[in-house]
Amino acid sequence: MKRVFNFSPGPSVLPLPVLERAAAEMCDANGTGQSVMEMSHRSKDYKPVIEKTEALLRELMDIPAHYNVLFLQGGASLQFAMVPLNLAGVEQVEQETSGGQNSPQKKVSYIDTGIWSDKAIKEAGKYADVSVGASSKDKSYTYIPVAPAPDADDAYYHITLNNTIVGTTWNKVPETGPVPLVTDASSCILSEPLDVSKFGVIYAGAQKNLGPAGVTVVIIREDLMGKAPSWTPVMLRYDTHAKEGSMYNTPPCYAVYMVGLVLEWLKNLGGIEAISQINREKAGLFYSYLESSKTFLSPVAKADRSLMNIPFVYRDVPADKKTDLESRFVKEAAAAGLVNLAGHRLVGGMRASIYNAMPIEGVKALIGFMEQFEHSIRSV
Ligand SMILES: *Cc1c(COP(=O)(O)O)cnc(C)c1O
Repeated sequence: MKRVFNFSPGPSVLPLPVLERAAAEMCDANGTGQSVMEMSHRSKDYKPVIEKTEALLRELMDIPAHYNVLFLQGGASLQFAMVPLNLAGVEQVEQETSGGQNSPQKKVSYIDTGIWSDKAIKEAGKYADVSVGASSKDKSYTYIPVAPAPDADDAYYHITLNNTIVGTTWNKVPETGPVPLVTDASSCILSEPLDVSKFGVIYAGAQKNLGPAGVTVVIIREDLMGKAPSWTPVMLRYDTHAKEGSMYNTPPCYAVYMVGLVLEWLKNLGGIEAISQINREKAGLFYSYLESSKTFLSPVAKADRSLMNIPFVYRDVPADKKTDLESRFVKEAAAAGLVNLAGHRLVGGMRASIYNAMPIEGVKALIGFMEQFEHSIRSV
């Protein structure tokens, strides 16, 4: 068997013991004589699978009892619409005239820290009166801006907790008082301790730190449900899914099972405290290598650097050689078994995503490769 070190931003590396267990249980899960993929979601065989997954997530994240945990579909991108619909939707949306002075829409605040925030903002603008309290667009999103206080009449306040593409992270979340704080935690959930009680809603697509693509986890405070306007499609209402234990319709059964295996792996490893130490060590190694490198650098403000996604660029190369050198890096790294290191198509450069499942050996192998690569391009 050949395994590479996979630095993909998502879908991304999964822990090998999880894949091996899934393989072992593929045709006969837990003595049922069936694959989890083949089980009715209403069967007595499947029920413990989803219940165990939820219980493990509650335990690992210390989720208070007055929060619901939902397993949905549609990715984080659907949450960009579900959040404003459910938390700020109004019964009747008048046709907005230019200026929209008498807009009946509810007010919501967003902080713009990158491409995903921007998408969330645009989607929310269809259902709510969005104010962008701060943005780091002026410096290509390489830092986290100072977050202003929310307006008292904001229905919620939204941040993207970890910015997968540009590699920034909120090390301290804004204090929003009684205004519910909502966050997209797709690329950092379970990477570090997080005080769930500070949030109204936390959502995350699974394919970065939780499991395979196909399931989206939503953690939502109970009192924030049941507010969606009556015209909201039933599938897009949080309360629909909460009332039915994420079984209103067929949930993404197999993906939920895989998340359960990942959570079990994480628990055996010592939980979030343990993984966060490993994550700090991994990212620390890579950032200190970048600091000392004569060839590469991190474009991100030091205080705001992500532990999960680490973009890097050439320190100084002539503009006409940049693209060539970037593709050479990505190609030669892949040949050395270090794959998916290209930066996001919109920002270029390179990026190493080092989620929970990336072993420290992978980071060391990458640094070793980069040291050799530096040498080889400088001796040309
Ligand atoms: C990957 C990602 C998304 C998009 O997730 P989908 O599941 O593809 O919709 C949104 N936000 C962040 C922060 C991401 O990393």
